[in-house]
Amino acid sequence: MMQEGNQKHSQSTLGLYIHVPFCSSTCDFCAFYQERPSKKKMESYFTGLQKEWKQANLAQPVDTVFVGGGTPGILQPDQLKRLCEFIKGMGLGEKVEWTVELAPNEVTEEKLSVLHKGGVNRISLGVQTFDAELMVALGRKHGPEKVFRAYDMIRETGFKSVNLDLIFGIPHQTINQWESDMTQAVELDPDHLSTYCLTFEEDTALYYRLAKGELSINPEKEAAFYERAWEFLPGKGYSQYEVSNFAREGYACVHNLNTWKMNHWVGLGPSACSQYQGRRWKNPSNLEQWLTGVSNGFSREDYDEFLEISHHTLAEDALLFGLRMNQGINLAEIANRFGLSKEYQKQLIHFFKALGKVGLIKQSGEWISCTQEGRIRADAIAAQIPVVEGISV
Ligand code: SF4
Repeated sequence: MMQEGNQKHSQSTLGLYIHVPFCSSTCDFCAFYQERPSKKKMESYFTGLQKEWKQANLAQPVDTVFVGGGTPGILQPDQLKRLCEFIKGMGLGEKVEWTVELAPNEVTEEKLSVLHKGGVNRISLGVQTFDAELMVALGRKHGPEKVFRAYDMIRETGFKSVNLDLIFGIPHQTINQWESDMTQAVELDPDHLSTYCLTFEEDTALYYRLAKGELSINPEKEAAFYERAWEFLPGKGYSQYEVSNFAREGYACVHNLNTWKMNHWVGLGPSACSQYQGRRWKNPSNLEQWLTGVSNGFSREDYDEFLEISHHTLAEDALLFGLRMNQGINLAEIANRFGLSKEYQKQLIHFFKALGKVGLIKQSGEWISCTQEGRIRADAIAAQIPVVEGISV
């Protein structure tokens, strides 16, 4: 019998993520699965994508597409054309938002032209910083001039929606340098800005330096960087809609919103994650293992992670991600959507009231959202959201 949760979610929108697992750089902060490309690996990758897509056998059109990596821009123009044709053949919704992530080093006029003609309508450029010294600290292999040239080419090609990714909390970065990065980003006039706090992921060069004591983490300084962005960017016309994301009106990233609202998403390629019809899984972060999985048909054990998800898990995650958004959450709507018991709703109301008393949460009509202080502590708040014992998976 179909689970009640599946019935409730059958109308969810669908986001498609495609992971291009190739890159020729080794940025010191990068924990994304990627390896050096070769002609043979590239060919197997395309064959694997086709097979995985057929196996997914989705019963609804794709509403958003996000191609990330690795570095999708490492694909040559003929390979990008092939990827675009493959994606177009998937049955895209009429107003699909279709993003491709590009590293400045890999941007060329020819590749951009192929993407534009192929149907891509949003480019996300991995700037990280405009500061030449901080670029070295991150292990980037190019200077700021590459970023400016790449941005100009993107606009000249005719892309109407452009995001810039920035990183803060880089070792030895000052607040003034952060403000200078934001100023230079705003001067380029993008439509969207994502601002991420540097994290020290395992198996990255920065993580080893942290482990050796050469670097340290300073939560107060990180909070100051966050707060500077939250004051600065809205003043320049970029409304904050999530802890790390800012957009001009009408340019919020629909693909990310789809994920944060706990709708459906399906990821293709090594290390890609999916959440579809009551299940959540992560593909193996290894090209060979992924290819074996798509050739033989994946069983649960072949995935890096696999989970049957209950309504309550989805509801908890909708609360967790919802609280990171400026709009916040509508508890009644979440309760109705995920079929939450009255008892659990009471626990949540009690929890939010307690947070309201200490100034971390505010309420406006039916909506509950974090105050600025609460948003700084969004992860800690999320970790304390009551769990329904015996029901949540
Ligand atoms: S360019 Fe992107 S994928 Fe490649 S190492 Fe740097 S951050 Fe990672």
